[in-house]
Amino acid sequence: MKVAIKHLLIFFLLLVVNFTAKAQAIYRHIKNYQVYYGWAHSTPQDKLVLRRFENDGKILFLMVNPQTLQTEVTDSDIYQIKPMSATEARSFFKNTPYQKALSKAESQSVMIQDAGIERGMPKEAGISLTADLCPSHRPLDKIIFTDIFNEFSKVERPVPIALSVSGIWMKQHQKDLDWLKMMEQKREIDITWINHSYNHRVSKSLPLKENFLLEPGTDMNFEVLETEKAMLANGLTPSVFFRFPGLVSDQQLVNKVTGFGLIPIGTDAWLAKGQQPQAGSVVLIHGNGNEPVGVQDFIKLLKSKANSVANKQWLLYDLRESVDEEFGEVRP
Ligand SMILES: [Zn+2]
Repeated sequence: MKVAIKHLLIFFLLLVVNFTAKAQAIYRHIKNYQVYYGWAHSTPQDKLVLRRFENDGKILFLMVNPQTLQTEVTDSDIYQIKPMSATEARSFFKNTPYQKALSKAESQSVMIQDAGIERGMPKEAGISLTADLCPSHRPLDKIIFTDIFNEFSKVERPVPIALSVSGIWMKQHQKDLDWLKMMEQKREIDITWINHSYNHRVSKSLPLKENFLLEPGTDMNFEVLETEKAMLANGLTPSVFFRFPGLVSDQQLVNKVTGFGLIPIGTDAWLAKGQQPQAGSVVLIHGNGNEPVGVQDFIKLLKSKANSVANKQWLLYDLRESVDEEFGEVRP
């Protein structure tokens, strides 16, 4: 009897833990938000601290599990934390999928467009879906989310999707954001939040090498950290991924982004540009209402794969797991 009660207690405790883990806290009074590297000692898996901040008198850390690429915000008294320099942290965690992905992204950044990781390596056929939420006056293209849920709910629930979100979009689309969070709470979708810069400036006339984040005078500290703060203030947990506006960058900019501990995510299948997805593709569509062609292409792709989806032969992959699998195994 006692044992049964104990089990029941543990069960409820787990339920509570699970629930709080999903309902991400909202940090409205962030102060002293800074890049901070450190080693959070924990069993069975050590974590890497990337940011430190204060909120309502509490010290908090944003950290990543370097094996799974899952991020979390944690109270300072939960872990023992040893501060490190960026270089020390990279060498300490050098054999992890996170660190390998970071180095790979740096080495793939010579081109002006599409630097970074552009495909994962899932075991089965399928893709990782990323949708960009650049600043836009149009409402969120909800059909993407309702359609993937309808198509996949029998085989995958919640359905994983990665959303690259800009600071301005969050500011102007509170209702859309609430709707997405509601879908998450109902466990219909599971969102990986990618940093897409704050202002997402773009010029129609400037050449690529001076456009988007390469525009002279761009403050990368602001672009990266203000977006993260806006995510946290909206109850979203920043991931370790970054997507360049317009997919435009140069080596120096890529190094700046990896200096924040963030992995640039490119794409090998921008649907509106006619690029066809392969197994393991990181597919790009725009969810901000500005690129209906890409969304229609995606819906078409979904319908054409309906049978494979039903047989679990074509699935959507969590970007964190795809990148993690790509860099997780030691290959000869
Ligand atoms: Zn964008």
